Amino acid sequence: MTDKKRKISILGSTGSIGRQALEVIDKLRDKFEIIALAGGNNVELLKQQAEKYKPKYVCSNTYHPELVSVVSGIKVLYGSDGLEEICSNKENDVILVAVSGKVGLKPTLTAIENGIDIALANKETLVMAGDIVMQKAKNAGVNIIPVDSEHCAIHQCIKDISQVEKLIITASGGPFLHKTVDDMKNATVEQALDHPRWNMGKKITIDSATLMNKGLEVIEAHHLFGMDYDDIEVVVHPQSIVHSAIEYKDGSVIAQLGLPSMHIPIQYAITYPERFEGIKSKSFSFADVARLDFEKPDLEKFPTVKLAYEAGRQGGSATVCMNAANEEAVFAFLRGEIKLFKIYETTAKIFEQHRVVKTPSIDEIFEIDNEVRIKTREFLRIK
Ligand code: NDP
Ligand code: MG
Repeated sequence: MTDKKRKISILGSTGSIGRQALEVIDKLRDKFEIIALAGGNNVELLKQQAEKYKPKYVCSNTYHPELVSVVSGIKVLYGSDGLEEICSNKENDVILVAVSGKVGLKPTLTAIENGIDIALANKETLVMAGDIVMQKAKNAGVNIIPVDSEHCAIHQCIKDISQVEKLIITASGGPFLHKTVDDMKNATVEQALDHPRWNMGKKITIDSATLMNKGLEVIEAHHLFGMDYDDIEVVVHPQSIVHSAIEYKDGSVIAQLGLPSMHIPIQYAITYPERFEGIKSKSFSFADVARLDFEKPDLEKFPTVKLAYEAGRQGGSATVCMNAANEEAVFAFLRGEIKLFKIYETTAKIFEQHRVVKTPSIDEIFEIDNEVRIKTREFLRIK
């Protein structure tokens, strides 16, 4: 990064990751120039961010008249066309893709086509189209640096992927780790949103409660690091200190550790390959941490993990289907329409009926995603 400021755009600046990314940048103001900030519905916050950071562009999901008057000199953009315009701007050195859901996929592809490095938080991008995205990034010589803490950990551990035998992805286990299956099945929205370690957006928090988040992360890891599903292991580690590990062929295990904070992986991804002091609440102490526990995931309580391995192994549109069905079911749970365990039951049912398309194009991926969502909503209305 040297003396030159790194030019960055943040898609999803009003979200959990986006807000924390701006906190990281606050600590490293002389290292970054913000080209664009993009959010969804939270126009009030987006407006405040635009006033504070004075980017060249600001983008919301739909037209909001209050944004137009925000600060003179800032171009106001809207919707997917706005995200496309941001990601086509070759001025960007890096784009942090921190929107939630499928909206992250197309802008990521556009940024790759324009040779812009990606700091990737949006795991749906790889779950939906990992083969295409990684191939395009490779062809374009674009770095995809993971923000997801487990993948960021693995990225930091790997020197030579060809020497790696196994990836070990840690999972906190979420709020129901030591609760009974019945407790979990009858959980309220508030209980499911009460994550013991991480403060995240609602969708990913519910996925963490069902462990679907870990399933999605296994698929994400498969694409990012090109590892077979047989060589990706999930281990529950409630303290969230070991963020993940790799085992080399010779039996050496390298893990990345740290206090649980998303500031660190976000900073790593947007400053890669350099490191700076940045936000660090306190220095790490093994003695303070005192103990680290590990256990196998209970696949009866968390069958989502098995389902994700199955979808990943089938490949093609299987992961598109699983992701879309799960997301619709999570939204239904958040609206109070279904019980927590019904998220898995719905996803498994829709998945079972899906006829896999082996190598779908991006347009087919969006078509399948749409069809699955309609089917899932119909299924949830009928049952
Ligand atoms: P949040 O729900 O907190 O934030 C989502 C962001 O996306 C918000 O800025 C939201 O805008 C924006 N957004 C949603 N829909 C649109 C749209 N149609 N157009 C433009 N912007 C949109 O989620 P998180 O920050 O928790 O997660 C973001 C991504 O990062 C997810 O893919 C998640 O899986 C991943 N991730 C998150 C982690 C975390 O710790 N939070 C950890 C690892 C990965 P608005 O709020 O203004 O509507
Ligand atoms: Mg994670």
